[in-house]
Amino acid sequence: MIDGRSVAADITADVRARVDRLLGGGIVPRCTIIVAQGDDAGLLYARATQRNGDKIGIGCDIVELAEDSPSAAAESTVRRASCDPQTHGILIQRPLPTRFDEPRLSAAIAPRKDVDGANPLTCGLLMSGSPTFVPATAAAVMELLRRPFLPPIRSAHAVVVGRSHVAGRPIAALLTAADATVTLCHSFSRDIHALCRLADIVIVAVGRPGFLTSDMVKPGATVIDVGTNVENGRVRGDVDAAVSQVASALTPVPGGVGPVTAAMLLRNVVEAAEGYDPK
Ligand code: NAP
Repeated sequence: MIDGRSVAADITADVRARVDRLLGGGIVPRCTIIVAQGDDAGLLYARATQRNGDKIGIGCDIVELAEDSPSAAAESTVRRASCDPQTHGILIQRPLPTRFDEPRLSAAIAPRKDVDGANPLTCGLLMSGSPTFVPATAAAVMELLRRPFLPPIRSAHAVVVGRSHVAGRPIAALLTAADATVTLCHSFSRDIHALCRLADIVIVAVGRPGFLTSDMVKPGATVIDVGTNVENGRVRGDVDAAVSQVASALTPVPGGVGPVTAAMLLRNVVEAAEGYDPK
C-alpha cells in the first residue's frame, strides 16, 4: 500500500515553512472555495481544506452558492474574488450543478489565482506541456507515482479510466508529458478489461465502487485509486480489495490520493501567494 498520509505530511511540512516565510513578510495566504449548496461531498472537502489550511496559517473562505442563485450571481462572486488583493487562490468545487455555466465561471477565475487549474488558459498550458497550476488531484496522482520505490513512469504503459476535467484528462496529459504511453478510457471505450490488463500503471477515476477488479490488472502493476465513493456510510474507492493480491503497489481509500490532493491544493495556494503581484 502506498501511504498517502505520509506523502501528504511531507508536502505539508514544506508548505508550512513557505507559509511562515510569507507571514514573516506580512502576507497571509488566502483562498476562496466556491461550493454549490447541496453538494455535500464538495462542502465536506471544502471544510477539510479549511481546517488543514487553518493549522498551517492559510485562510480559506467558503462561499456557498444558494440553490436558487442564478449563474450570473455566481460569476460576480468569482470576479470579486479575482479582483480582491487579499485573495490569492480561487477554487470552484466541480462539477457544479448544470444550472450553473461552469465553463463561464471557470473562465472568470484570474489565471494567477487558478489554484485548481480550471480556467481554459490554465488547462491549455497544461495540455501544451507548460503547466502553471496543475489540478490538485492530478498533481497528487503524479506525486504518488514518483515515489522512489515505484518503477519509472517513462516508457510505462499507463491506462487512465475516466476522462473528467478534474481527474482523468489532466492525469493523462501529465503522464504523457512524463513520457508514458497513455490510453485514456471512458464509458464508450470497448474492452476496458483487456486494455487495463496491458498496463504497467492503472489509474481509476470513475466514481464506481469496486470498478477495477483483480482480473483486470497485470500482475506487478501499479494501481492508483482516485475514487471516493460513500457507500453505506463508508468511503470506498473504485478499486476492488482483491486487486491488492495482484498489484505490486496500490493506493488505499481512504488514505491514498485524498490526503495528497488536499496537500497539493494548499501548496498551489502558497505558490499563488508567493508569486502574487497586485498589479
Ligand atoms: P466524473 O466527472 O463523473 O467522471 C467519471 C468518468 O468516468 C467519466 O469520464 C466517465 O465516462 C467515466 N466512466 C463512468 N462509468 C464508466 C464505465 N463503466 N466505464 C468506463 N468509464 C466510465 O467523476 P470525477 O469527478 O472524475 O470523479 C471520479 C471519482 O474520483 C469519484 O469517485 C470522485 O469522488 C473521485 N475524486 C476523488 C478526488 C480525490 O482527490 N481523491 C478528486 C476528484 C474526484 P464519460 O466521460 O464517457 O461519461
